[in-house]
Amino acid sequence: MTVDPKTAPAHGPIVEIDLSALCANYAMIRDAAPEARVSAAVKCDAYGLGLTPISRALFERGGCDEFFVAYPEEGAALREALNNAAARIYCFAGPSEETLALYERVQMTPVINSLTQAELWAKRGAGPTVVHIDTGMNRLGAPMSEAQAIAATLSAAGREVSIVMSHLACASDPTHPKNKDQREKFVEAARRFSGARLSLAASAGALMDKAYQFDLVRPGIALYGGSPFDADDERICDVATLKAPIVQLRDLRPGETVGYGATFTATAPVRIATVALGYGDGYPRNDTPAGAAIVNGALAPIVGRVSMDFITLDITSLKNPVKIGDYAEFFGPRLRLFKAAAAAHRVPYDLLTGLGGRIDRRYL
Ligand SMILES: *Cc1c(COP(=O)(O)O)cnc(C)c1O
Repeated sequence: MTVDPKTAPAHGPIVEIDLSALCANYAMIRDAAPEARVSAAVKCDAYGLGLTPISRALFERGGCDEFFVAYPEEGAALREALNNAAARIYCFAGPSEETLALYERVQMTPVINSLTQAELWAKRGAGPTVVHIDTGMNRLGAPMSEAQAIAATLSAAGREVSIVMSHLACASDPTHPKNKDQREKFVEAARRFSGARLSLAASAGALMDKAYQFDLVRPGIALYGGSPFDADDERICDVATLKAPIVQLRDLRPGETVGYGATFTATAPVRIATVALGYGDGYPRNDTPAGAAIVNGALAPIVGRVSMDFITLDITSLKNPVKIGDYAEFFGPRLRLFKAAAAAHRVPYDLLTGLGGRIDRRYL
């Protein structure tokens, strides 16, 4: 996903990524979870921000040496990004006949999600193992009823279970009763794997309560500047700034409309700025205009529909003069990712991971 400099437009959208802020978020989570180790979830190209620079900064500057990816191919890319350093890489997908060899070549630890995977790994795999027990998410992971058989299968084959993990379904709301319920089920399931480290928390679990931190936390979004909660979390620093240049200015008379579907009609004289960013770059398209950007220090609402390459902003009330080539900032230090996402009817997760390949990623 990381942009190819040959195809990134010279005057197109940019996402600036502050690697010091990334490391500050890592350190903040360490402080919040002093008794746990802090790993990093770097799946999906490090949430769209670039696997190689992100994982290198976390490893070399942040001191992070355990990483989670979703697919074995991501793990192979990560091993290369880290120059084969002795970091531990865990892969949520778990092994299949097709990927066993890749796990071995990359020296990556699989997350076992079923008895079938445990049997495969017991027969053919080597090295330590992570086991994922589903405690109520009903998505990935082995059911509680298989925990005993998985433990027995791996132990008979001499496979050490280094970590037993589960994943919280409702941690975005720390008061949700399901959190406590899953925690109790997790502690019960973990009894089958004596000696293993325990890991239940992603970003939200790590930041909500010590009771959820156990031995290892697995934050993703909080490292990248997004709140994992249903509200913003000021402890998290902004990491990414999305901005795009203004390419046209238009003065509309009352009665004139903007964009596809003519969804915005000027009721008074209106000044419109057209910005080089669109849904083709991952900025959400909504039927009714939603979201805003900062232009020359002031907030300008999106009017008209977001199209593939362009967004139109109403800059009528802006006091500072706006000219072609000025940048509009869609999120960043002046407009928190959480708030920008909410205004566009999204969450930080899908806004970041949706950022397209045409956006120039620049690392600070
Ligand atoms: C993606 C993921 C994480 C990281 O989640 P965040 O909410 O981004 O911190 C941790 N654990 C599992 C199983 C995941 O799928």
